[in-house]
Amino acid sequence: MINGAKFILRRFFMHKLYFSKPNGKMYYKKYFLILCLLNCLGKLNAQNKIYDTIAERIAIDLQWGVNDQELASRIDNNWSKLAADGSWIDINYNDAKFDPLVRIKEMAIAYVRPSNRFYHSQKVQLLLVKSLQNWADKNPKNKNWWYNDIFYPQNIGQILVLLQQNTKALPSELKAILISRMQRKMRENDGANTSDIALHYLYRACVTENKSTLDSATTYLYQPITLSNGKEGVQIDGSYYQHGKQQAIGSYGRVFLSNAVNATFYLRNTPYALPEKKLEILIDFFKNTFAKTIRGTYYDFNVRGRGISRKDSLRSGLESIINKMSTINAENNNYWNALALRVTNQKPAAYQIVSSHTFYWKSGYTLHVAPEYTFSVQTASTRTLRTERGNNENILGNFLADGATNIQRTGSEYANIMPVWEWDKIPGTTNRDYLADEGATVKKDWGIPGTTDFVGGLSDGKYGVSAYHLNSDSVEAKKAWFFFDKEIVCLGAGITSNTAQPIVTTINQSWLRSEVSVAMQNNSNVLLPNIQVAYKNATAVSHDSISYFFPLNQNLVVANQIQAGNWYRINNFQPKEERSGEVFKLWIDHGIKPTNAAYQYIVVPGSQKSSIFKNYPFNNLQILQNTPNLQVVMHKKLGLLQMVFYAPDSFVYNGMTIKVDKPCVLQINDFESANAILFIADPTQKSNEINLELKLPKYSTKFKLTCPLPDAEFAGKTVKFKLENKNLQHKNN
Ligand code: CA
Repeated sequence: MINGAKFILRRFFMHKLYFSKPNGKMYYKKYFLILCLLNCLGKLNAQNKIYDTIAERIAIDLQWGVNDQELASRIDNNWSKLAADGSWIDINYNDAKFDPLVRIKEMAIAYVRPSNRFYHSQKVQLLLVKSLQNWADKNPKNKNWWYNDIFYPQNIGQILVLLQQNTKALPSELKAILISRMQRKMRENDGANTSDIALHYLYRACVTENKSTLDSATTYLYQPITLSNGKEGVQIDGSYYQHGKQQAIGSYGRVFLSNAVNATFYLRNTPYALPEKKLEILIDFFKNTFAKTIRGTYYDFNVRGRGISRKDSLRSGLESIINKMSTINAENNNYWNALALRVTNQKPAAYQIVSSHTFYWKSGYTLHVAPEYTFSVQTASTRTLRTERGNNENILGNFLADGATNIQRTGSEYANIMPVWEWDKIPGTTNRDYLADEGATVKKDWGIPGTTDFVGGLSDGKYGVSAYHLNSDSVEAKKAWFFFDKEIVCLGAGITSNTAQPIVTTINQSWLRSEVSVAMQNNSNVLLPNIQVAYKNATAVSHDSISYFFPLNQNLVVANQIQAGNWYRINNFQPKEERSGEVFKLWIDHGIKPTNAAYQYIVVPGSQKSSIFKNYPFNNLQILQNTPNLQVVMHKKLGLLQMVFYAPDSFVYNGMTIKVDKPCVLQINDFESANAILFIADPTQKSNEINLELKLPKYSTKFKLTCPLPDAEFAGKTVKFKLENKNLQHKNN
């Protein structure tokens, strides 16, 4: 009623004002004051409503997926640990982590839910007050700043927001102390940390109804939603950095993403709504990078940073933020629904997957997604940092940035395998094979720079090539990956080391999920259980619907044995309890002190094991060269020619010539047609242009071509040139 009356009055004065203006200023002044007053009242009212709206959205969000019965029984269970003074007897308050605030928050959730048997329970309210008072009195400080500055204030904020509608639940003095305990200095331009702190600013704004707190919460929640070049946050290529120039798509990138989505969701349709341009960045990062790193319900292990060493770290748990995206970005509803169905296992991992190939030139990360599988590669260069160890997490991850390949079909291939992993046999890497995992220890915290600058790749959107000059732990190699529809060709050349350990290239190390079959030139067999066998003449191996083909004889070792270990050895925050499981392991042994050794294998995910006993159609797919200077693969059926030039060189084959004056990776699409397209990139990110000489089958003459390359933040990005007969002949003249 009052609002309605105010509205009519305001309309009346607006009307008067509008028409009185030409006649004189008396009217204007007279009614202006009244109008201001009404406007103020209206604004105050609207502003208060904003706090209520946001608080309500947050409170509903905090109850996402709550099972009332389980929640109530957890609370029952926790009561026995609550001392008379409101402290929890099993908590060391000098090192308080997630509990006890999580337990208190659970009581608050139950207290506000009409469907819970503790809804408005007097006993729960009493315990809430006691335990919060105790927390306020103790005011715990952790050695790790993250708990003090992020986790504690966020959780206090959430508890206060939950209880906001139940004004009598907390004494106002206690509420005031708790609010004061939430105040922290903002960490500006610190990616996910900035948005994490801004999120508790938002909670605080809701409970204090303070406009300047809300203004600053919004500013800092939105600040990280921008494209940066080298600073922490979303990069110009769509990848994500944190702790310096370190790929963190699914670790800190996930924190950033969920904070950004939450903020956008809470503030939607208010004057604080996310600006359109930023919304585009958010959707693009989510859809085109982040979501693609999840296969079924599991992350690619290459995107979890040091979090790879935490239990359940590959589990995505994205349902709630996907659900919010379908509200925020309703026009893409079909996409969000399909993603939700995949991550909750309601649909298979292949459901509505569209093939794509992306090379992230800022992060040295390659992501190849197909309906049948996901295959990614992580590398490090002098421009980036290797996967970090920090706070004694990821202790054995030294080789993770040396070309680790994540090969997923269902998604769960590596889920929680990490405690039993042999950490110097990370899939895809070439390194020393130590007796224990001692050489896999990361020697310095928070990221060590890579050692080489020829680290890069190209993409045409669907296919691509990536290359890595490895020079790490006294092992050198030229490693490259060639991506097609069904196959990934993995090549290594110039493998040289002078150390005491054997050098190995690991093809895979995943959970044993099926029998392991090995094909040889003349016969074939199925591996006996729990055995390790060396082969000199195996042509293919099949396990868990993935086949590995070996066009040349190599010293192969296959194992399907039980491996044991514990989480603690890779992460000192994790349990020491021994774990074990059957592991499939496949590697190539290059021997001790190899000089210019090489390897080649072709991975075909999503293939029947019977395929390995047939002759794989290698006439379609040929490895034409694999030397330290040059690696060349040709896929005749797809019309693709892919090359890695580690140095200026020329390649002559079957009447074709390709000559370059700078190191590069290149791909020629439709190379046997008169409409060939060249894709080229400079892994060193140093060259301004590359001069090529090309002679292709359907072009009348040999021609010269100068390809200008992108610079600054786009250095390393793929460029595309149409090889038009006319133009080239013209150029040639
Ligand atoms: Ca070893």
